[in-house]
Amino acid sequence: MKYLFSLLFLTSLCVGQNLVITNVSIIPVNTNTVLTNMNVYITNGVIDKIVSGGTKLPFKDYKTIDGKGKFLMPGLADMHAHFPDKLNPISLQQYLKYNLAAGVTTLRSMRGEESQLALRDSINKKLKVAPDIYVSYVFPDADSILTKDKIADLIFQAKIKKYDFVKYLGGLKTKNMNHLSQSCYEYKIPLAGHAFNKSLEESVDLDFVSIEHYQPVLAAYEKSPDGFSALIKKMKDKNVAVCPTLSFYYTYSFLQDETQLLAHNGMSLVSTQVKDQWLKEYNEALIGTKEQLKEEFDTKYKSVYQKKFDVFNTVLKQLADENMLLLLSADEGPFNVPGFSMAEEMKLYSKAGLSNYEILKSATYNAAVFFANDKNTGSVQEGKRANLILLNANPLDAIENIQKVEGTILNGKYYSQKELLGISSTK
Ligand SMILES: [Zn+2]
Repeated sequence: MKYLFSLLFLTSLCVGQNLVITNVSIIPVNTNTVLTNMNVYITNGVIDKIVSGGTKLPFKDYKTIDGKGKFLMPGLADMHAHFPDKLNPISLQQYLKYNLAAGVTTLRSMRGEESQLALRDSINKKLKVAPDIYVSYVFPDADSILTKDKIADLIFQAKIKKYDFVKYLGGLKTKNMNHLSQSCYEYKIPLAGHAFNKSLEESVDLDFVSIEHYQPVLAAYEKSPDGFSALIKKMKDKNVAVCPTLSFYYTYSFLQDETQLLAHNGMSLVSTQVKDQWLKEYNEALIGTKEQLKEEFDTKYKSVYQKKFDVFNTVLKQLADENMLLLLSADEGPFNVPGFSMAEEMKLYSKAGLSNYEILKSATYNAAVFFANDKNTGSVQEGKRANLILLNANPLDAIENIQKVEGTILNGKYYSQKELLGISSTK
């Protein structure tokens, strides 16, 4: 009985609140428009009715959020997330809270573990307030001990345990890679991850559903700028997505000074301990690289990176222009504050010349398209789940406005950012 009571109590914390957001501007993202002065009724965690601001529906007991001067858009999806490991000074609980506070309502976990499956299930049952998670089974990079049968068995186990997808980390030779691709196909579990042989084209042929990091994309372009359009077409035909994770590499290109790094979105939230650890990690890498390259540090490192980014920016723009399924994540790493780093990645997409609409789309709508069975998130429309962000300024005007989060709506329940971050908490 006591158990039942606490279960009910927990459930009521996660859902069970009907909400109306009044006089708000909606950025639906499924189309490139802004709907001004609207009332959004949310019933049992679902966007029930969207009506003009002058219309009041006779719905009883709806908590009102004043949306005047504010912007409502779908929650963000971090598509290359790394949950903190045991050595990370940011705890799992903090990590999930930071994400919600930054407006992230979906996480694709690229370093999946069995414990995350239980976490995912309790989130799905609304027993825990946290973003939706998709958990990867990280395939062992141990080519020499693998056989066709062993690979099939590992993938079978991953399927039985209900992992959402398989992440290819690296380390396999062609024969085993083919077995892996075949097993994923047979057990109907998506294969994603690092490009096989660093080759975009080979990975597409192996039926990867997404390719992580920008390098294989850049390499494919540089190998054959003329053939690149055909490759993009092939990827579109096969619904292959790309998640470039630029922010991590941009940090390690040493093109930003310390002041810029410490000004990354969300840095004001992290403890001195974390800040110091990140600075230490960063400076050790910087000093090591400088010592190795000596006077060639600028010419052989910094300018090489600068050039890489310049070329990749034109590639990224082409991917967006050709309507490729672009995903968005900053990856983990120093100065990437969980959730808040999404804004840093967005700024890099903006530098590449993508429109603010294309950037928002890659962080919301495209993720829902990617998860083929998720017809319920990624846009603000009647019938969709109410996983939303309320912003104080319009990110279509300036992408930096994504940083101005007033609150996050998860399964129809409103959490102010202050509450999520424990600033003047009401609980
Ligand atoms: Zn990663």
